[in-house]
Amino acid sequence: DVRHGTLLSLEGIHVSFDGFRALTDLSLYLGVGELRCIIGPNGAGKTTLMDVITGKTRPDAGSAFFGETLDLARMSECEIARAGIGRKFQKPTVFEALSVFENLELAQKADKGVWASLRARLSGEQRERIEETMITVGLEDDCHRPAGLLSHGQKQFLEIGMLLMQDPQLLLLDEPVAGMSDAETEFTAELFRGLARRHSLMVVEHDMGFVETIADRVTVLHQGRVLAEGSLAQVQADERVIEVYLGR
Ligand code: ADP
Repeated sequence: DVRHGTLLSLEGIHVSFDGFRALTDLSLYLGVGELRCIIGPNGAGKTTLMDVITGKTRPDAGSAFFGETLDLARMSECEIARAGIGRKFQKPTVFEALSVFENLELAQKADKGVWASLRARLSGEQRERIEETMITVGLEDDCHRPAGLLSHGQKQFLEIGMLLMQDPQLLLLDEPVAGMSDAETEFTAELFRGLARRHSLMVVEHDMGFVETIADRVTVLHQGRVLAEGSLAQVQADERVIEVYLGR
């Protein structure tokens, strides 16, 4: 990990909800081009962590920097998204009545509003970008299909494609392979490994087989704190992690 520059630095983050501590003194550093998995039992603080990074939740204390200069704690959700942090929630949200191509087209011109976007003519370069993205996410044969007719897994791929149209530096993904077939899960692993060459990824995931295939490093959260960090093998050998997962 020393070969990576640091893209995201969280230091001493505290978040409380009505006195309940959702995150306590959390520090986490993510490298450029790193693929990090965040694991931990329900209620560990994984969603709250993502919310802090995207500006949805303000930390009560601590600092959150993107790159060297962008202070996430002082930016709005919109500013953070525009600065290059894209988030995908567990449930896919695509425009079901529009085709795969049109969904990607909208995502590419997201700032302009739906109708203006669909009326504006595409430049050759924009069209090429959409076509490349369809290939990246494996939907080139479904270009003109309404998104509503895609399988659950394909909708997830489309939404990842929509995120990529914004060219984010950091992608945050919440349980991306939940509900996917084995073949789709395998494709997702390949897709993420490929994306990690150009983007950094942070993936909240419960599927340990998937984590093992994709993760450079794993951060284990428990009761709002970082319990362990390292390769999956390292954290799985950690006594405290075993205790939390097996309840010994
Ligand atoms: P995870 O994603 O790991 O399951 P969360 O970040 O969703 O964990 O939640 C961490 C803890 O914070 C949980 O106990 C949850 O009930 C609590 N929590 C999260 N968001 C809120 C909120 N808006 N108000 C009150 N409590 C919350």
